[in-house]
Amino acid sequence: MRYEIHWRFLSWLLVASFAVGPLFAADPELFDAHIHYSRDARDYLSVQQALERLRAAGIRHALVSSSGDVGTRELYALAPELVIPSLRPYRAPGESASWMHDESVIGFVERRLRDGRYAAIGEFHVYGSDVDLPVVKRMIELARDYGLPLHVHGDAEAIEGIFHRDPAARVLWAHAGFEGPMRVDALLRRYPALWAELSMRGEVAAGGKVSESWRAVLIAHADRFMVGTDTYTPWRWDEVLEHAEWTRAWLADLPPAVAQRIMYENGATLFRAWLQSATAP
Ligand SMILES: [Zn+2]
Repeated sequence: MRYEIHWRFLSWLLVASFAVGPLFAADPELFDAHIHYSRDARDYLSVQQALERLRAAGIRHALVSSSGDVGTRELYALAPELVIPSLRPYRAPGESASWMHDESVIGFVERRLRDGRYAAIGEFHVYGSDVDLPVVKRMIELARDYGLPLHVHGDAEAIEGIFHRDPAARVLWAHAGFEGPMRVDALLRRYPALWAELSMRGEVAAGGKVSESWRAVLIAHADRFMVGTDTYTPWRWDEVLEHAEWTRAWLADLPPAVAQRIMYENGATLFRAWLQSATAP
């Protein structure tokens, strides 16, 4: 009898561990949609250290772009299973406000796309009607020609301008544009190929609780949000682990299926073709 109970308990445990796997597994893995390893970060920590920090934080895939591009390529060369390389149109840190007026950017991006292998174009900064400037227009055309999504740090007007120019574009909206939840909701409803990542949006959650104004929007568009760290400055690399823990804590306040999509699946879905080709023999 005693053995029978014991055996029953073990069977239950076995079934339960399959049903609620994460209880027994390591921290759930993250798709980090906003990592930079720019020139200044390369002076601060080595490629190996950067990769160690991403891995220690449980980041399975990271969308990486850098000012200049060499940092992205170095990370990708050492960790193609982790790094999803995006081409930033900045040749050095500090070009975020000037790049759209510098037509020499076009040749740089064209050469890189021709000679390299990238999963996206961005992250770049663009606001309002600046999407009509020749350099930005060319980025939108190149994304279309190469079948790549754009990673855009811009306001709602810029996002509308991009879809006006190319209704078939795919756009990952950095920081959800720092727009409020109602505006983000409206744009996600209007553009089915718009995704929003929540890096640097600390107000979405506090103390492991999702704010009420965001909760409904996150659940309504559970297949369109992602998370990200945004290592926009070297010291931000010191916070990758802590940020990942903070992210998991507030995602746990959402229904598990919603949290899992935002934490990992949406990024993996947007970059599915890339990930399949990257892991193909
Ligand atoms: Zn950024």
